[in-house]
Order: sequence, then C-alpha cells, then structure tokens
Amino acid sequence: MGWKSLDDMDLSGKRVLTRVDINVPMEDGRITDATRIERIVPTIADIRAKGGSPVLLAHFGRPKGKPNPDMSLQPLVPALEDAFGCPVSFVERPSRDWIDAQPEDAVILIENTRFSPMEEANDPQMAQFLATLGDVYCNDAFSAAHRAHASTTGVAHLLPNCAGRLMQAELEALEAALSNPKRPVGAVVGGAKVSTKLDLLDNLVKKIDVLIIGGGMANTFIAAQGADLGASLQEADLHDTARDIMAAAKDAGCTVILPTDGRVAREFKAGADHEVIALGQDTKLADDQMVLDAGDDAAETIARCFDDLETLIWNGPLGAFEITPFDTATMAAAKAAATLTKAGTLVTVAGGGDTVAALNQAGVADDFTYISTAGGAFLEWMEGKELPGVAALTQ
Ligand code: AMP
Repeated sequence: MGWKSLDDMDLSGKRVLTRVDINVPMEDGRITDATRIERIVPTIADIRAKGGSPVLLAHFGRPKGKPNPDMSLQPLVPALEDAFGCPVSFVERPSRDWIDAQPEDAVILIENTRFSPMEEANDPQMAQFLATLGDVYCNDAFSAAHRAHASTTGVAHLLPNCAGRLMQAELEALEAALSNPKRPVGAVVGGAKVSTKLDLLDNLVKKIDVLIIGGGMANTFIAAQGADLGASLQEADLHDTARDIMAAAKDAGCTVILPTDGRVAREFKAGADHEVIALGQDTKLADDQMVLDAGDDAAETIARCFDDLETLIWNGPLGAFEITPFDTATMAAAKAAATLTKAGTLVTVAGGGDTVAALNQAGVADDFTYISTAGGAFLEWMEGKELPGVAALTQ
C-alpha cells in the first residue's frame, strides 16, 4: 500500500493530470475493442464528481519519439466522448493558458506522449513541463507502470499524486494475491516456455504454497527428470534450471505439481488423433509424439488441489488451448476455479494475454475475482519487481 486513492484527494476546481491507457486496437480507423476506454470511465467520472477536470495523458502505438499522424490520439475523441458522456477537447501542443481557457466541465486529451523522445527517456524537462499542466497527478495506467517514463513516473514526483480507480483495483487485487494473500496460496504457471518465466517461477516458489506447472513448460520439467518426450515442445538446455527450480521450491516449502499424464498427438492441429499417456521419469514417447495438453488425471488433481486453496494466481494455459481437444485441461481447470470463486471459497487472480484469452474461451472470465489485462506490468509484479509507476505513487 502506501499510495493514495482518489478518495484521499481534494480535487475541487483542480486540473487533474491523469495518465491513462487508451492504446486500443484499431483497424481502418475503427476501434475493434474498446475495453481499455471502458475501464477508465470510473476514474473520469469520480474526478468530475469531486469537482476536478481531467487532463488526459496517454500513449498510442510505438511512434519512437516522432510525431506520426497514424498514431494520433485525435481519432479516439468521439469514442471517449461517448464513454464519458461529456465533450473532450483535444490538444496537440498544450499550454497551461490554453487548458485554463477550457470550460471546467470538459475533459482534455493531450496528443500522444510518445511523439516526444523525452517521454520514454523520462526526461526531467518533459516531466516539469507536464507538471505545469495540472494541479494533481492521477495514474490510472497500471499497464504502463512497469515503464519509467516522463508521464508515468517523472511527473508523479512533481505533483500531489494518487492512483485512479483502475490502478487501485489492480493494486488491491495483486496485493491480495501475492503480497498479503489468504493461505494456502497456489499458482498455475503454464504456457510455452520456461525461459520466459524464470523470474516468475523464482519469485513464486518463495512466496506461495503450491505451484502447478503446465503447458510446454511442464514438458521441460518432466524431461529434466529423465523422460523422453519425443517431439514435444520443451527446452532441452533448461533441464538444469528446471531441477534448480524444483530444489528451490523444496527448500522454500512450496509443493510443485507436474502433470502425471498428458494428451499426446502426432500432429499439431485441431481434432488430431490423440491418446492420454501417463507421464513420469520413465516415459518414452515416439520421436514424432507430442504432449499438447495435460491429461485427465492431471486435470482432476489440479481441480482437487484448488479445493484446498484460499488464493489462486493464474498465468499461462495448461496446453495448446487454441486447438481442440488440447484445450481440455485448461477449460476444466478454469471452470473448477470459477466454480470455487463463485462459491466464495477461492480468490482467483489471473493475468497475461493468453490467460485472458483462455479464460474468455472457457466463458469464466467474469467469474474470476480479478483479471488483469496489464500484460507486462502484471508479470513484472508477479516476478516481484518494483514497478516505477507504482513506486512513484508511494514516495
Ligand atoms: P505463453 O505465451 O508462454 O504463455 O504460451 C502460450 C502458448 O503456449 C499458447 O499459444 C499455447 O498454445 C502454447 N502451449 C501451451 N502448452 C503447449 C504444449 N504442450 N505444446 C505446444 N504449445 C503449447
């Protein structure tokens, strides 16, 4: 904790410089998914209800420090006006005088912060300039909080600051999952590769009680015990690392659950012929066989394990969930976790691109306690790293 929320701030008559993430996907000038805009509405509404006027700072795409009309925020104005239910005044080159000349009930949108190279360099001059544009700073862009940029960090140090509602919800959910969880706390870590999740595994084994490993990552762990998993996705150069993680978990008192069986096929395609095969150190698959999902016993063990947990963190699928039937274990586990969440016996916090897609596919995304759409920032939090955008709010 240590950060302030909008409830702690006096915003009456103040221009509230508000960092948001409205980096929505667009095709042919049309927004294809407005989720990010919808999620900042409570913050904008609460600032206005407290008598403040939001001045929005945001990035869009990767213009690499140069103005680029294709990445202007101006085309988002109509969608923002619809979502906020009030006029939005767009400005390319803001000044405090211009802002003060705007009606107090307008929301102001400043052009893409990344049009200047000073943004990503966290240049103090840019931070100082941004600070002249508002009286209070509010950060509602948790998804950009792992970047120390002028609009996420530099300016936060120069004004009274607070977290917006979305940032607040993320921080409260993540603190409840990892910093101060109800125990026992477990995590599902799946997905393709161990190599992209080393920091995550290192941090989790120190903090949680049960680690459930799935997906291609589990293949690496099972192969590290001596199994020959044929053509399965795995990282042969990480067998030592996998054994080190198992040892670190044991030292920390964290139980590791690996799939005891797998759904195995010879082709990576929907509806491929498959069989469920027991997995262990003595398993020997044919050269062309691949473990593409956890098996039925494994899915059952995972669901039973959830019964004993109070808190569950989830990052990464248990198999190649994009193609049936290799989505079976992920769907079963997602539904089991959702049922316990709805019954009020499990707190479930999930995040990461593929995880959100998998939970949507299972139709349970709304049943989880919290789903973070913050991608990189969610992972860095789970890796135990300090997020500069959050740290700046606590100083
Ligand atoms: P990640 O981005 O690391 O979370 O990995 C997610 C991807 O891993 C998804 O596209 C899955 O299809 C893939 N995946 C998970 N398990 C397996 C597996 N056993 N074999 C091949 N791909 C897998």
